[in-house]
Amino acid sequence: MGSQSNGNSNSFIKMPAIKFTKLFINGEFVDSFSGKTFETVDPRSGEVIARVAEGDKEDVDLAVKAARHAFDNGPWPRLSGFARGRIMMKYADLIEERAADKIHGQVLKMSSELQGYTLQEPVGVVGHIIPWNFPSTLFFAKVAPALAAGCTMVVKPAEQTPLSALYYAYLAKQAGIPDGVINVINGYGPTAGAAISSHMDIDKVSFTGSTEVGRKVMQAAATSNLKHVSLELGGKSPLLIFDDADVDTAADLALLGILFNKGEICVASSRVYVQEGIYDEFVKKLAEKAKQWVVGDPFDPNTRQGPQVDKQQFDKILSYIEHGKREGATLLIGGKPTGEKGYYIQPTIFTDVKEDMLIAKDEIFGPVMSLMKFKTMDEAIKSANNTRYGLAAGIITKNLDVANTVSRSIRAGIIWINCYFAFDNDCPYGGYKMSGFGKDLGLDALHKYLQVKSVVTPICNSPW
Ligand code: NAD
Repeated sequence: MGSQSNGNSNSFIKMPAIKFTKLFINGEFVDSFSGKTFETVDPRSGEVIARVAEGDKEDVDLAVKAARHAFDNGPWPRLSGFARGRIMMKYADLIEERAADKIHGQVLKMSSELQGYTLQEPVGVVGHIIPWNFPSTLFFAKVAPALAAGCTMVVKPAEQTPLSALYYAYLAKQAGIPDGVINVINGYGPTAGAAISSHMDIDKVSFTGSTEVGRKVMQAAATSNLKHVSLELGGKSPLLIFDDADVDTAADLALLGILFNKGEICVASSRVYVQEGIYDEFVKKLAEKAKQWVVGDPFDPNTRQGPQVDKQQFDKILSYIEHGKREGATLLIGGKPTGEKGYYIQPTIFTDVKEDMLIAKDEIFGPVMSLMKFKTMDEAIKSANNTRYGLAAGIITKNLDVANTVSRSIRAGIIWINCYFAFDNDCPYGGYKMSGFGKDLGLDALHKYLQVKSVVTPICNSPW
C-alpha cells in the first residue's frame, strides 16, 4: 500500500524561513490595498505556516500601471537582447536558470520596387496566472521567456502557494531587473486572477491551470481587450506498453508516471494500457513495486510521495476513488488515506477499468492509475486518443515501426518513447485539443511573448 516513512530520520531537510509575505509591486514589497491577508497551509499537517497579503482588482491595477510604465518608459524593452541577457544571467545565477538570446527578425524577399524586413517586438505587459503544483518551475517557465522577449509582467501565483514567487521577485531586484518589470500579486482566482484576464491594459495572458478556468480566462480576454491568450491546461495522458517491453522497466515508468509529485502533475500517465501478452506479469510487478513506494513527509529524503496540496484536493481524489469502486473497477492496491495527520493518500491502482468510467475520463490529479488491457496497436491508438485532452503520451516498445507509427498517430503535444517526464529547456511543451494551446519551453515559448512587425520601404527611385 505504499509504506509510510516514520518521520524520525535525522537527515530531514529543514523548513526554509519565510521572509516575504506581502505583494511585490514596482520593485517594493507592499501590503494589499484592502489590508486583507489569507492563510498558507502546510499540507503535511494542515497547520497554518504564514499569512500572505491578499491582492484584488485595485492591486492588479497598481501592478499593471507599474508594468505599463516600465514597458512604455523604462529601459527593459529597449535594451538589446544581449544586455537583457546579461541581467538575466545574473538572475539565472541566483535562481540557477538559463536565459535566451536568439531574437531576430528576417529580411524579406519582396517585389522589385520594395524592400522589407520584420522586427520581433515584445508583446507588452503580460499577465501570468499559474497553478500550485510546480510553483517554482512554472514561475520560471513563464517569467524567463517573457523577460527575454522584453516584456514586463504581473504574476499571480496560485493561492495555495504564494511564498516562492515572492522570494523570486526579491531575487529579481537583487539581480538588477528594473522596478515594475516583475510584479507579484497573490490572491484568489475569481478576484485577482479575473482582474488580470479582464484587464484593459494587459496585452497578453499566459495561463496554466485547469481546462475549466482556462475557458473563463479566454472568455474574459475576448470580452475585454482581445488580449493574446495562451493556455496550458489539464490532461489525462495515456502510457502504452507493448508486449516486447521489459516488464520491470515498464512497471517503474508507469509508477513514476502516476506517482511523481503525488499525481499532481498535468502530464501524469493516469491511463495505462498494457498489451495482453505481458498484462498479468505487469500487474503482478506493478503491485509489488507500489507496495515499496514510500509515502511520507516530503522533507524526509527517503520519501517518494508527499501529501496532496490541500484538503479540497485530498477530498476530491478520495471521491474519485469511491466513484471508481462504485463503477465496478477493481481496486488492485491502495484507495485510502494514510498517516495520522495531513493529506496523504496511498498509491492507488484500479484494474478492469472501462473507457467510459469517470476514473478513465476525468483528470483526477492524484496518485490514482487506471489500468487497461489491449490486443492490437490500432486498438491502443484508438484508446489513447479517446479523450478530450491531448497533453502528453508515453510509448514503451523496442519496435521502431510501432514507436514511429504510434507517436505520429496520437494527438498530444509531447510523446515520450521509452521514457516519461523527459523535459528539457530546449524542447517545447504544451497541449493539443482541450489541453490548450501555446508552448512553454524551447524557442516556441519565446515567440509566445513576441509579435512580428513588418517594415516596408520603396527602393530608391521607385514610383511611390
Ligand atoms: P485552477 O485552474 O483552479 O487554477 C489555476 C490558477 O488560475 C490559479 O492561480 C487560480 O487562482 C487561477 N484562477 C482560478 N479561477 C480563476 C478565474 N476565474 N480567472 C482567472 N484566474 C483564475 O488550477 P489548479 O487547481 O491550480 O491547478 C491544477 C490544474 O492545472 C490541473 O488541471 C492541471 O492539469 C493544470 N496544469 C497544467 C499544466 C500544463 O502545463 N498544461 C501544468 C500544471 C498544471
